Amino acid sequence: MKLPVSFEFFPPKTPEGADKLRAVRQQLYALKPEFCSVTYGAGGSTQEGTFATVNEIIAEGVAAASHFSCIGATKDSVRSQLVTLKGMGVKRLVALRGDLPSGYGAGGEFHYASDLVAFIRAETGDDFAIEVAAYPEVHPQAKSPEADLQAFATKVKAGANSSITQYFYNSDAYFRFVDDAHKLGVDVPVVPGIMPITSSSQLLRFSDACGAEIPRWIRLRLQAYGDDVASIKAFGLEVVSGLCERLIAGGAPSLHFYTMNQSAATSALVQRLA
Ligand code: FAD
Repeated sequence: MKLPVSFEFFPPKTPEGADKLRAVRQQLYALKPEFCSVTYGAGGSTQEGTFATVNEIIAEGVAAASHFSCIGATKDSVRSQLVTLKGMGVKRLVALRGDLPSGYGAGGEFHYASDLVAFIRAETGDDFAIEVAAYPEVHPQAKSPEADLQAFATKVKAGANSSITQYFYNSDAYFRFVDDAHKLGVDVPVVPGIMPITSSSQLLRFSDACGAEIPRWIRLRLQAYGDDVASIKAFGLEVVSGLCERLIAGGAPSLHFYTMNQSAATSALVQRLA
């Protein structure tokens, strides 16, 4: 594909999962990603697995981005992890607030992702390129769409180089968000996050949790397919490749794929868009 692509993975929980992810990465490297990113469990819960996976990607000769969430963290702990990440050869971070699992107190010295971005810049200058999260369909905890957009602009102005969106299936929401952000003086790339559709129940569960809207016609079609996985995958490929085509035609700077540690759906999409 002419447009740059990047791929997101989560740290595997078992040695079998790690082996499977190694094979998945090799398949996806054939598509020449600009970088691969690895998520980071809020409260540092996956730090070891995140850093281990990032290390493997770097050793495989591919640029790696480590996600990094600040909720519940202290300045000292963030400072020491930044030293570790720099020592590992990481040059790109996805800086996030994160969500603490219920039962954890808020605590910590960072309230919002903008605090983390400002801290990383103050501590490490230009050592890292910084990505932040964007929400074309509005973050679920935002006071209002305007407040969320303003919060996005604030964290970009704190020192982000680029942004990646939460996934969405309505391209109008993306284009509107990009225009509105531009009006607030945001001039960094807003890269659409693309979630392939491969399973009905998983997608519906995920989307409820993160506030991504599944349009009614997609939801009903998925429910009607029931256990017919082949039809769900064929429908998903058609819907998501159509979305990507509209995003590319409308000027999206690149595409970031939520791979869910699987290669088939992301490969099929990128190859179809080639
Ligand atoms: P923020 O930008 O801090 O925003 C959080 C909320 O606070 C929003 O409602 C915003 O409107 C509001 N807000 C911000 N600033 C202010 C202010 N000054 N005053 C009042 N309100 C304000 N989660 C993980 O745990 N690990 C991951 O690896 C991970 N990767 C992600 C990658 C991408 C591309 C995306 C889109 C999300 C990812 N998430 C991840 C989820 C993310 O952590 C959650 O959506 C979280 O709830 C918000 O994080 P944030 O960085 O967007 O927060």
